[in-house]
Amino acid sequence: MSDYALLAVLVALLLGLVAGKAWERYKLRDGRWIDRRRLRETPHYMLGLNCLVDNQIDQAVEELTRATSTETDALEIQMILGNLYRQKGQVGRAITVHQGLLQRPDLRPIEHAHVLLCLGLDYRHGGFIDRALETFQEVVRLDPKNRYAFVNLQKLYEDQQQWADAAVIREKITTIDGGDDEANQQILGFLRNEVGEALMRSGDDEAAAHAFSTAIDIDARTAPAYLNLGDARERTGQAAAAIETWERLVRTVPDRAYLALDRLERAYQRTGTPHRFIELCERLIDQNPQDWRTRLALSRHHASAGRHRKAFELLLAALPHNPHGLTIHQEAWKALLALDRDPALVQEYMALTRSAVFYLDPHICVHCRYRSTELLWQCPQCHEWNTFVEERMSTAKDTAAAELGG
Ligand SMILES: [Zn+2]
Repeated sequence: MSDYALLAVLVALLLGLVAGKAWERYKLRDGRWIDRRRLRETPHYMLGLNCLVDNQIDQAVEELTRATSTETDALEIQMILGNLYRQKGQVGRAITVHQGLLQRPDLRPIEHAHVLLCLGLDYRHGGFIDRALETFQEVVRLDPKNRYAFVNLQKLYEDQQQWADAAVIREKITTIDGGDDEANQQILGFLRNEVGEALMRSGDDEAAAHAFSTAIDIDARTAPAYLNLGDARERTGQAAAAIETWERLVRTVPDRAYLALDRLERAYQRTGTPHRFIELCERLIDQNPQDWRTRLALSRHHASAGRHRKAFELLLAALPHNPHGLTIHQEAWKALLALDRDPALVQEYMALTRSAVFYLDPHICVHCRYRSTELLWQCPQCHEWNTFVEERMSTAKDTAAAELGG
């Protein structure tokens, strides 16, 4: 079962509990609470819930269906049953069940909202985007603090690449959450950056630059916004401002600094200050000794100026931190060729590479463990923002030490 499906079941359970409570109050007010008690007395209700907890969906459906045969107006069970049909891929059946519940004359507004939320999930699952949007909007109209409905709205807008609409929804979620917390700021930053990229594609550099600045103001860790803002400034002839923007990325988000290195190298070259690139790289390596990307960039810079020995030394220093980096090996061979395959250097290179072990995909989503060979800003599996980190590479020596409990 996928994470999304599991989430759906948990939400179904949660909704069941919430609706169950509301329903219990309703029954009490009506003086018919004995019905509710009878429901608890049927073994099928508890059995069904237990199956749910154990992830036995088919059996849960069976037990809960039996429970409803003795207690047909149990709203919460019908809602869960509908959700389970969706879960099993029977979206049509789920829609029928949930739409049927909406026809009940005694439904209170909050119960109405809960059933609509289930129906919205059915529509989204079945790919009926417009209906899903309408339904979730109706939910938040009835229940303005329904965070889960807002989250679904945001994801639907993101799927449609309607970034500005998605951002408006996320602002509402931020309000529900009681103001700026880091996670909300981060999502808002990335959404504003997407708004800017769309503007950039349509050729409106000025409006795009404004969106990128806004993204950075919202969350200073929105790395792609610095890259894009610098690009927009460079295209409009503001070389110094572009450099300033990329340098700000390096200072503010040092773990993403390498993304700006190519741009900065080119810009320093163009403004006649190539030494600034060397100084910047050396500073970055000092700050983070594991930084193989900056060593590679600096090595290329030296190589292009004919300083092959220096280039080679940097590559040897980079290798232990990423022994499987093909680009490092390619650059190393280029340097060796440029140095006439000096036997001592080849020996040194061979000794270092011998310790290389198994291959790991370098980027991993900290939220759902999805692996990617490139850096992604939004995870294709769990759709969270900025969750990718570089997986730590280890050499044979590190692994052996770890196994020995070192
Ligand atoms: Zn993920």
